[in-house]
Amino acid sequence: MIDPVPCRAPVYRGRFAPSPTGALHAGSLLAAFGSWLLARHAHGEWFVRIEDLDPPREVAGAAAAQLAALDAFGLVSDAPVAKQSERSALYQAALDRLLADGRAFVCHCSRTALAANGGVHRRCVAAQPRPDPAIRLRVPDGTRIAFDDGLQGRIEQDLAGEVGDFVLKRADGCWAYQHAVVVDDAAQGVTDVVRGADLLDSTPRQIFLQRALGLPTPRYLHLPLLLDEAGRKLSKSDAARPVDAADPLPALRAAWRTLGQDETALHDATDTAGLLRAATLAFDPRRLPRTVAIPALQRTT
Ligand code: GLU
Repeated sequence: MIDPVPCRAPVYRGRFAPSPTGALHAGSLLAAFGSWLLARHAHGEWFVRIEDLDPPREVAGAAAAQLAALDAFGLVSDAPVAKQSERSALYQAALDRLLADGRAFVCHCSRTALAANGGVHRRCVAAQPRPDPAIRLRVPDGTRIAFDDGLQGRIEQDLAGEVGDFVLKRADGCWAYQHAVVVDDAAQGVTDVVRGADLLDSTPRQIFLQRALGLPTPRYLHLPLLLDEAGRKLSKSDAARPVDAADPLPALRAAWRTLGQDETALHDATDTAGLLRAATLAFDPRRLPRTVAIPALQRTT
């Protein structure tokens, strides 16, 4: 029987998309919990996607450990978890369209050759072809991209001058993050990208690529990055401050406070499910901190 209700785009579909480069730390939990809360607040869906596109940076077992940790925190994907390593055909189809349109091109330039121009590619400068060329997207002169971030306000970038023609497929054959993330967010029907502010300056590239592919642009909201005592961003790859999945309540409470929410709302929770229920009821997006970085809170119980 044919479903009489026409297939409609979801009102809200969010996602959390960790790269398996190490254990989840307090900053990753902040992004996961923040995106989950915003999705629940909007009565929307929330997907997890493993961004395992960069074998040289991947840590064996990290993806499974991240998923186990998310489970322990009660942050469970509403759809089967997608793995980018299994989605090459989608990335290739999008790349083929860009090549056929003349928007993407094969590039033999080395990083060293581009260093003279601050690493920004405006035209090919390679003296000779290389066996492993990259594929870049052409960014026409004068291209500026602006968008309104849900938390950080108006963001504008001179894409041609500051970023230049950017890589879609790397010289080592790996798909570039910018390409895969755009293809996947569209293919998965993501309406709302909520992630850490370290990706704020990737967003104009992603919007430009969406337009080149004729894809919709989701809403963006960039949460503050957590900084360690020395003022550095916590990073999965340097094994900073892994969250303790065996004892999820303190880490969830700390993330909740960092998200500017009312601490007292979670006082009575004794287990993860209860805490998430209370958090869903009490969450107020207007309290989210409108800043790009914030010192990591010390754990309290
Ligand atoms: N895979 C990226 C990371 O782990 C996040 C990508 C995104 O949310 O767009 O930092």
